[in-house]
Amino acid sequence: MDTREAYQELGVDPTVSDAELKIIWRRLVAAWHPDRNATVGASRRMQHINKAYQHIRQLRDGHSDATDDAAHTGTQTGQPAASESPDPACGRKTHASTVGLSLEDAILGCTRTLSGRIAHPCGACVGKGQRVLAKACLTCRGSGAVRKAALFGWLWNEESCADCGGDGRHRESCGPCGGSGEQTVAYRRRVRIPAGVRNGHVLSVPASRPGETEIDLELEVTIEPHPLFTLDGDGLLRCEMPVNGYAWMSGRWVEVPTPTGMQQMRLNRNAMTYRLSGQGFPTTLRGPRGDYLVKIVPVFPAQDDPGQEALLEALIAKSNEAVKADRSQPLGQWQRRLKRWNARQKEPARDA
Ligand SMILES: [Zn+2]
Ligand SMILES: [Zn+2]
Repeated sequence: MDTREAYQELGVDPTVSDAELKIIWRRLVAAWHPDRNATVGASRRMQHINKAYQHIRQLRDGHSDATDDAAHTGTQTGQPAASESPDPACGRKTHASTVGLSLEDAILGCTRTLSGRIAHPCGACVGKGQRVLAKACLTCRGSGAVRKAALFGWLWNEESCADCGGDGRHRESCGPCGGSGEQTVAYRRRVRIPAGVRNGHVLSVPASRPGETEIDLELEVTIEPHPLFTLDGDGLLRCEMPVNGYAWMSGRWVEVPTPTGMQQMRLNRNAMTYRLSGQGFPTTLRGPRGDYLVKIVPVFPAQDDPGQEALLEALIAKSNEAVKADRSQPLGQWQRRLKRWNARQKEPARDA
């Protein structure tokens, strides 16, 4: 595995930060762990993911510019990261989201505009929803305690003031967040999705325009089921296609669907499966396309009409003549062998 392939395997660009790389690697491990993923080839994919990650780590650790901080290197459990993780080092936020693709989009790559809103703690009140002022709490007049009557007013209990939490200072609802402690930010991003992404693949989309609220997106890919094609766990694209049985027998051309459109294919009466090379799913992310297998199912009418019956009768008679004329044909040889054996069976047993 070379460096380019290692980055492709993890679905990231070489510019990805060490911290982001680690988050993506953990996600992939979580998605492809054979304990959790029953897909054929999951364990092989998992090995590739780990190999790719090790390769990049070794490469980066070998250079002096390792930027991975202790907080990010602390755990090696392979557990998925939290879905939203503010990164205090650079003031950015990572937002996890999903993107649904058709199989064609996954095969050929596509561009998507993604938008949404994410909530983050209000900066004005540090997520508390209120601001503490210097003046005294109106409820407890600054004492931090309130008295409550108990036992029909004969006794008074002193309780901590609920409005100021007992510190006696006046609170005011935070204006910028309306007291909720959260602010929402809208994002809109045009994302180029490379060819060859699979179900569960996580794409890292770093914030591109500095100055705006910077939100890095982590997109998990979901590929929608296709009405015609199926994608095997090992990446082979398949289609099962009924064809007219007579067209198959006579080696006619038929139209077959491919991810890029319809295509002509010649049927062969000796073949049920046809391999269209380079028309399948990309073998690696952004890599060349693999093969596409078309399996045909010849279909004959449930009941031939009299006209068809007569035609078939003529066809069989004609081909029987050909069998008799050509003694080298397997069918002719078989018929003669059968005849000899059957004749011998009918002879009376000699030593009864
Ligand atoms: Zn108070
Ligand atoms: Zn606020």
